[in-house]
Amino acid sequence: KKIIITIDGYSSCGKSTLAKQLAKKLDYVYIDSGAMYRAITLYFLQNRVDWTSSAAVNAALADIHLEFMCNPLSGASEMFLNDENVEHLIREMIIAEKVSEVAAVKEVREFAVAQQKKMGARKGIVMDGRDIGTVVFPHAELKIFMTADIAIRVERRFRELYAKNKNITIEEVKQNLELRDYIDANREISPLRKADDAIILDNSQLTLENQLELVMQWVEDAIME
Ligand code: C5P
Repeated sequence: KKIIITIDGYSSCGKSTLAKQLAKKLDYVYIDSGAMYRAITLYFLQNRVDWTSSAAVNAALADIHLEFMCNPLSGASEMFLNDENVEHLIREMIIAEKVSEVAAVKEVREFAVAQQKKMGARKGIVMDGRDIGTVVFPHAELKIFMTADIAIRVERRFRELYAKNKNITIEEVKQNLELRDYIDANREISPLRKADDAIILDNSQLTLENQLELVMQWVEDAIME
């Protein structure tokens, strides 16, 4: 039996790292819902869309086609925006700075959530994000809510970004994480929340192997239910 696994939580808790490994182990499909909000943000910035205007947002969304495609070399799933591979562009700091604002727009969420729900028609997926267990798949068989100490999250994200851009500072990364968490948890539409039936995974002191071991047990339990 294949199930739906949701992983929600604050920024840079290691959701995608765990989700990818889990999907690999289970031979499931991994879906990065945040990549969709990032790609929409990229489009809005490139096309100077005023996201405070719902008419402008609707017109822009009508022109946006999002698709995940598997990179045949690495096996990784990559984000395509209107047939262009934007996997690298959407990880830039300029996107991180605006994405939470864009993701708080009602029309944007409806657009993304509708597509995410469709992807769940086929079981055997791991999807990570902020509202996956609460809104996208409220009936998922296994829901995980990840947390980690803020200092640890900042350090992890800093290392990732610094590898690509030596100009980045710890303070910049910390401010961005705190701002995104604040906007994500306080927006009007589907704010970041732990689903009542989600299991909390605090990975501040856990290695990836520790986490996988724990979660594989939860998966087994969920499949047995
Ligand atoms: O997961 P990631 O950090 O790439 O997500 C980027 C941003 O997209 C989040 O900070 C949040 O504002 C938004 N997001 C969301 N709902 C999701 C996934 C991401 O609002 N399910």
